[in-house]
Amino acid sequence: MKIKIVLLLAFIGLAFSNILAQQNFCSALKSRNILLLPEANPESVQEVLMNKYDLKFYHLNLNIERTSTYISGWVRTLALITKPLDTFAFELQTSMILDSVFSGTIKLLMTHSGDFGFAKLPVTVVAGAMIDMKIYYHGTPPTSGGSAFGAGFINATDAGSGSQITYSLSQPYSAPEWWPCKQSLKDKIDSSYVYVTTDSTNKVGSNGKLKNTVIVGNKKRYEWRQIFPIDCYLISVAVGKYYDYSFYAFPVNTVPILIQNYIYDNPTTISAMKPQFDKTKSIIELYCKLFGPYAFAGEKYGHSMAPLGGGMEHQTMTTIGVVNYEIIAHELGHQWFGDEVTCATWSDIWVNEGFATYTAFLALQYLDTSKSAAYMENSHNSVLSQPDGSIWFTDTLNVGRIFSNRLTYQKGSSIIHMIRFELNNDTLFFNILKEYIRRFKGSTASALDFKKVVEDLSGKNFTPFFNQWFFGEGYPIFNVFWNQMGNRVSIINAQSTSKPSSVSLFLTPLEYKIKTTKGDTTIKIYFKNNVQGTVLNVKDSVLSVEVDPSNWLLCKSSSVKDPNQLPLGVNEFSGNRFKNLVYPNPAHDYIELSNKMISDQLSYSIFDAIGRKVLFGFASDITTTIDIRKLPPGLYFVRLGDSNTEALKFIKN
Ligand SMILES: [Zn+2]
Repeated sequence: MKIKIVLLLAFIGLAFSNILAQQNFCSALKSRNILLLPEANPESVQEVLMNKYDLKFYHLNLNIERTSTYISGWVRTLALITKPLDTFAFELQTSMILDSVFSGTIKLLMTHSGDFGFAKLPVTVVAGAMIDMKIYYHGTPPTSGGSAFGAGFINATDAGSGSQITYSLSQPYSAPEWWPCKQSLKDKIDSSYVYVTTDSTNKVGSNGKLKNTVIVGNKKRYEWRQIFPIDCYLISVAVGKYYDYSFYAFPVNTVPILIQNYIYDNPTTISAMKPQFDKTKSIIELYCKLFGPYAFAGEKYGHSMAPLGGGMEHQTMTTIGVVNYEIIAHELGHQWFGDEVTCATWSDIWVNEGFATYTAFLALQYLDTSKSAAYMENSHNSVLSQPDGSIWFTDTLNVGRIFSNRLTYQKGSSIIHMIRFELNNDTLFFNILKEYIRRFKGSTASALDFKKVVEDLSGKNFTPFFNQWFFGEGYPIFNVFWNQMGNRVSIINAQSTSKPSSVSLFLTPLEYKIKTTKGDTTIKIYFKNNVQGTVLNVKDSVLSVEVDPSNWLLCKSSSVKDPNQLPLGVNEFSGNRFKNLVYPNPAHDYIELSNKMISDQLSYSIFDAIGRKVLFGFASDITTTIDIRKLPPGLYFVRLGDSNTEALKFIKN
């Protein structure tokens, strides 16, 4: 999902009194508090019951018009029983009317209380058996709820075209606002049908392949079928007067893919949108190359327009309100990262949104290169606008946090770019993406599942990386001082961090661009100490040293030439020649310089650990005493005379 205009409403969990007591279904559990969300209370009565079956198939057969959110119809559920089950439990928001529940042809005793329905089965069903349930219901879904855009089922009119549309948007918790279901990320449904009967002037967009359109009196039934695993929140409908704009894409590694777009049936909109949706072709062909074949190629990929402030990656049919390159690329990327492989919990939303945000960067990098640098810069600026915040979070009831643009999307995308930088091998990087999809295809994955794929294929330990960038907060700030004397260029880089209580030192590769009068050279170092020195031989005159010139890293930096900086040299730590000639070492108040080395060099300079000159003087006798009482404790270097390369080291304690 990509939200252009932030319309996040706080999700309010609803509690309801335990209805089971009235029917003695499960008296041992009756005194427990029950929360709406299964993830919030895994031992709640309904969660215990819903965990006793494994979803196989949903068939939604609904009546929906473009003029209101009123729904009527039925939902059929096929499920495999995994533990003996006497009560079929499901979610259906309290404002919807539950009419009846059937097991096969047998009408069941049922209760709808709060946001859950319960139907007493005629006999206890044993593990390994299938159940075939049909739930009849009707009603008008609530106008606010647990969706990232507010309500899960919406009727709205597009201001520009005047098109009135009824559409769903269930992510993360709103599917039961408009249809009875078991809302569980990890229990994907093996296949699903969505049939919608509507006014014959409407079209209905949904998941999978449009198998039939059937005349029913003066109405028409759209029959969509899809045969791939799908998460509950990705089942969708969009109903309105649409123009069907379809064409094919031809990826190299799979069958031609139908690209089916439902555009508002308005001449101006159609002519404006066609060139936008045309871009889907080259992007899906690129993604098939980068991430592996499109999983739903036998069905389609498409868009249904609806008046929302962004897009939502419903499986094979994105619902889209803001139609631009970035959102088309983002939602299409979700078909791999989010739909084919879905986050295992909402805390792992990074594997959906961080990746989809990064796929849009890749689309620009390969297809519209001039815009990719600005895209990444915007991502970085968003993250760097505040000093803290991690991608990882645990409060999955906070819908605003799940879909935090700065942390989940932009920081999420930025660290994938940094994984690529760490790997320093694009073939390996894209093999990792392909292997991740292959390994978790049709299922769910966590952030740590992705980390394991990275480690398995690279052979490197990414725990430090994830600790600092995924679980940790903040970013590094690099303060570079550089100087050139002759051919020798020294770069001293002191790292601080924006949130030291979380991460005090970021271990990372880092590039410097050395700009000279004769051209530029980029070098790469690995940053592993708070202060890090680098010495280069550069014969041309250096104009500047740029930090992270290709913007790989989430960081801030400064770089200044410091003429007083001691040029670091290979000898500065060896000191054999000058052994014992500065003493005592460590020192506290004074150091002594021996005459052996000052016989022909009268001046001395003392530099701190990052190369700043802190003392200067002249040695005038056989032994010179230097007062260091004003210096803070730390490591210092003494340079004698004009020596460019040699210095003595001492510690002030
Ligand atoms: Zn998204």
